[in-house]
Amino acid sequence: MQQAAAPKISFVSLGCPKALVDSERIITRLRAEGYELARQHDGADLVIVNTCGFLDSAKQESLAAIGEAMASNGKVIVTGCMGAEPEQIEQAYPGVLSITGPQQYESVLDAVHRAKPALHNPHLDLVPEQGIRLTPRHYAYLKISEGCNNRCSFCIIPKLRGDLVSRPAAEVLREAEKLVAAGVKELLVISQDTSAYGVDLKYAESTWKDRSVRAKFIDLARELGELGAWVRLHYVYPYPHVDEVIGLMAEGKVLPYLDIPFQHASPDVLKLMKRPAAQDKTLDRIKRWRAECPELALRSTFIVGFPGETERDFEFLLDWLDEAEIDRLGAFKYEPVAGAPSNAIEGQVSDEVKQDRWNRLMSRQQAISARRLKRKVGTRQQVIIDEIGPTVAKGRSKADAPEIDGSVYLTSRRPLRVGEIVTAKIDRADAYDLHGTVAGF
Ligand code: SF4
Repeated sequence: MQQAAAPKISFVSLGCPKALVDSERIITRLRAEGYELARQHDGADLVIVNTCGFLDSAKQESLAAIGEAMASNGKVIVTGCMGAEPEQIEQAYPGVLSITGPQQYESVLDAVHRAKPALHNPHLDLVPEQGIRLTPRHYAYLKISEGCNNRCSFCIIPKLRGDLVSRPAAEVLREAEKLVAAGVKELLVISQDTSAYGVDLKYAESTWKDRSVRAKFIDLARELGELGAWVRLHYVYPYPHVDEVIGLMAEGKVLPYLDIPFQHASPDVLKLMKRPAAQDKTLDRIKRWRAECPELALRSTFIVGFPGETERDFEFLLDWLDEAEIDRLGAFKYEPVAGAPSNAIEGQVSDEVKQDRWNRLMSRQQAISARRLKRKVGTRQQVIIDEIGPTVAKGRSKADAPEIDGSVYLTSRRPLRVGEIVTAKIDRADAYDLHGTVAGF
């Protein structure tokens, strides 16, 4: 008897790493139920679009992706951040089968079952134990909590995703251990506010191996550091207890890398932004962190042209950057987001001024980045290999997160493998990247 073909689903994942983790969970469940993934919309039984609704430009991108799926397939299920406010989608594409918000995995699966039921006898063992990941095999995002207790004035994430809900420490560690056992060499810890991890659980202990582990940032970081993979911390706010994790970095337990979305430096703008842990001692703390762990790389994002930002505030930010010497920086021009309190702040900044400030910020940062990278010439760095080219391999040092930071380009006498960690001698630096030779395996 001929077996019926498994239903095929085409999946589009937009937005931040947190949305990517949601996509991975949905795909893992679908694969477990016997669904297959299609490479293109055309010919698939269904399309799922996981949307991003953070900025208006992201919403436009999401709407365009839904439009494309409607045109080339017609059976479309929408989920993700933009789905929390479905009106816009319903208006543009009334034929969409279902719209759900972020983390509503069950509703997405229900919608899939209704539109295209799974085969009667799914091969449950199709799914590897660690689930399905959309990132390359050698690194994986590890989401430790959902939602956020802060109320930054430009952000609607708490409205979309609710208050902080942390996963128990043992659950996070079990997932991390499985990932490492499956070949993951680098764990990227993500959430909306990583240093607030466990506040909602009152730092409750859970049993991991032969011990109890508190749901606390430092305890989780310490345990993750025991798993034998690189551990990179993203979205960390500089609450006082963050100082403790620098010791783990100096000991080599977690990567000497902190992704802190400062967003601005001027106290007046930070106040208008209602940023958590905004305080004027940040520069002193950065100096202390670097004294304790000289290898520390700081990554941050900044918004220029926030309502009320004056030329003086902006210059304060430029001077602050010179002193802080942030290694890696992402800059955004302020965009009003529907529903964000910052829209009502007086002193909106014109597009020309925003563009001019963005250009000035980027050129200042380029000089800082080039200066910091130049200091690495002649040193030896560990590099994880991401891609193999015909003559050079592309990798990242401990100071570079995938997708958002710079790269290290390497030549090697022997062929390299993706995911391998090698020691490289750095021969040359440019504004954002390093170039070197493999010196040890
Ligand atoms: S910390 Fe602020 S910007 Fe980040 S998710 Fe929470 S409210 Fe939004």
